[in-house]
Amino acid sequence: MAKVKGLRCRECGKEYPAEPIHVCEFCFGPLEVVYDYEEIKKNISREKIERGPKSLWRYIDILPVEEPKVGLTAGYTPLKKAENLGKVLGLKNLYIKDDSVNHPTLSFKDRVVSVALSKAVEFGFDTAACASTGNLANSVAAHCAQAGLNCFVFIPANLESQKIYGSLVFSPTVVAVEGTYDDVNRLCSEIANELYWAFVNINIRPYYAEGSKTLAFEVVEQLGWRAPDAVVAPAASGSLITKIWKGLKELKLVGLIDEMNTRVYGAQAEGCSPIAQAWREGRDYIKPVKPNTIAKSIAIGNPADGIYALQVTKESRGDWETATDEEIIEGIKLLAETEGIFTETAGGTTIAVLKKLAERGAFKEDEVVVAYITGNGYKTLEVLEGHVKETIRIKPTLSDFKEKILVRV
Ligand SMILES: *Cc1c(COP(=O)(O)O)cnc(C)c1O
Ligand SMILES: [Zn+2]
Repeated sequence: MAKVKGLRCRECGKEYPAEPIHVCEFCFGPLEVVYDYEEIKKNISREKIERGPKSLWRYIDILPVEEPKVGLTAGYTPLKKAENLGKVLGLKNLYIKDDSVNHPTLSFKDRVVSVALSKAVEFGFDTAACASTGNLANSVAAHCAQAGLNCFVFIPANLESQKIYGSLVFSPTVVAVEGTYDDVNRLCSEIANELYWAFVNINIRPYYAEGSKTLAFEVVEQLGWRAPDAVVAPAASGSLITKIWKGLKELKLVGLIDEMNTRVYGAQAEGCSPIAQAWREGRDYIKPVKPNTIAKSIAIGNPADGIYALQVTKESRGDWETATDEEIIEGIKLLAETEGIFTETAGGTTIAVLKKLAERGAFKEDEVVVAYITGNGYKTLEVLEGHVKETIRIKPTLSDFKEKILVRV
């Protein structure tokens, strides 16, 4: 496996072989996949990628998997020029990267899971699991069904019912834990120490996280091999943001783009914003919080990659911003009404934050700005109750239609 050198501790730099491990045994720092970029550079080209499959596997030369085993349809989602929303926000080159239509489970998690479970199959695991705020559980359950793996997903008991059914339909064991996501995650770390299971976001995390890079790769390719001037993305554990940045840097390292001056902006829900708060207060460490927000998919109070996400915004000269629950719902509606895209609360957070950033002049009018929409609104329908128009009920007669509907037009 020439392209992957192994794993390396992000804190002390100690190197490890590419195994199903995720923490440094010396300093407990997180491990990250290390590549041989010189080797990759010899192999990779824009043309080769463009000839590849219409999925994230077109970037396999820069992913930690030898051969995709599962999740063959993930990625390759639309990048939509957002003319209408751009007009509202005063941005001439605004784009929406739309992972609300990712396959098979309508969130960006299909990217990380297809990579993690392809790796888990390579390692020979027969059981996969995860600690999830909802979308990850949906995706792990679907991909386990594809791969014929035993599946256990752990979620906080108070999740949206659409997200719970979105896992149950694939028939995994769904464990609803009485506690927050952070309680679920701690429990799963204890289980992962005892059982030989592939917990995609625990012991397989270094590989899982690499899947997020494809959100950077695709945007650059879709813009005609050009890095955007700015991106806005939501943060839960902070992994996505960290890896979008890693992906952008890698494209330059392997010679697929010459310039990369992208500013990375992070979006969090006000009711769970430990990373944004650290940024505001100029701290380089995270104070865990207890989540209290409708944006459950990004409600992680003790984010594993929070400090690295802070480093990304610092290094890229980006920023952080938060949105209240009210603003998140307005964000969902604004995107729906202007662009016809229905996102969930995480996407509402991104749009609300994009709007605030635009209003305070974070972007120049003609800069290329990309907003990452990471999940689908049909999974969080209940948050719209009381916030949208009501249906108008009529009898099936022309007269009732005229009386009740036409009079209003
Ligand atoms: C998981 C998730 C995120 C954020 O992921 P992290 O990598 O943990 O920061 C964003 N949006 C949606 C919809 C998600 O499900
Ligand atoms: Zn270490």
